[in-house]
This record gives sequence, structure tokens and C-alpha cells, in this order.
Amino acid sequence: MTSPDPHLRIGLGWDAHRLEPGCPCRLAGVDLPSDVGPVGHSDGDAVLHALCDALLGAAGLDDLGTLFPDTDPSLAGADSGRFLAETLRLLAKRGLRPISVDLVVICDRPRLAPHRAELRRRLAERLGLAADRVNLKGKTTEGGDGGRLEVQAVALVGPI
Ligand code: MG
Repeated sequence: MTSPDPHLRIGLGWDAHRLEPGCPCRLAGVDLPSDVGPVGHSDGDAVLHALCDALLGAAGLDDLGTLFPDTDPSLAGADSGRFLAETLRLLAKRGLRPISVDLVVICDRPRLAPHRAELRRRLAERLGLAADRVNLKGKTTEGGDGGRLEVQAVALVGPI
């Protein structure tokens, strides 16, 4: 049996946004058809926010809120893809790259099952990973009020 690679690092990310009728619903950089969407200072893409925090955490870097504060007026309505691109740039600067990521999206609306494959594919593209190294599951709350979306993410990173 080979011993585990000591250069591998793991990180955990979490994010939550309130859902409101009429707000655009962008998750993992994909605009989903939905009657509700996350409210946020940026585009509210909780999937990318949790993912960035997992990657940054694994790399021992500052968290997303410190790098991109929600008090910065220039970030109002910002495309969160920009946060992920900057996160990957910071990892690369440290000689690190993502190896695999796994996410759980908890919400009653929108239903994620029909979009799951597309979300995985788009995340994999952004991360430069094969689709089987990027997973994303949708879970419903079974009794929640449907007014909130929450995302948990883990990321494994390693040397470039
Ligand atoms: Mg957020």
C-alpha cells in the first residue's frame, strides 16, 4: 500500500443566500430557469462562493469575504465567475491546483436534478478538471420554507 501524498490539502466551504421571487437564478455560472433566485451583493452564485472558499481554505488563503467584501460597491452584481478565476490564480501562485471537488446544494427550488449534469460540466470546465472529478448533488429540505439556498463544498488541491 502506498502512503498518502503529504502535499495534498483539503478545504471546506459553505454559503447561503435568501431566495426571492423575480431574482435571476445563477448557480455554478449557469442561468437556471426558476421563479426564485438568490439575493446577494454579487450575482448571488452560492455554488461558486462555497467552492471558492473550499479552494481558498485548502490553500491556506484568505476567505472569499475578505478577498471580495460585500461592502465593495464595485462588486455589486459581479459575475462570481470572476471570483473563481481569481481564486484559481491565487492557488496557482502558490503552486497549487484543484484535484477534485464535491458539492451539496440544499434548496427546495429550483429543482436541480434536470440541470445537474450541465452544472457539473460547467464547473469542470472552469476548474480545468475532468467531469468525474467534479460532483454536485441537489438536496431538498423536506419541510423547509423554500426561502433559502445553502451550499456545502469540499475541495482537494495539490501541487501543479
Ligand atoms: Mg455568497
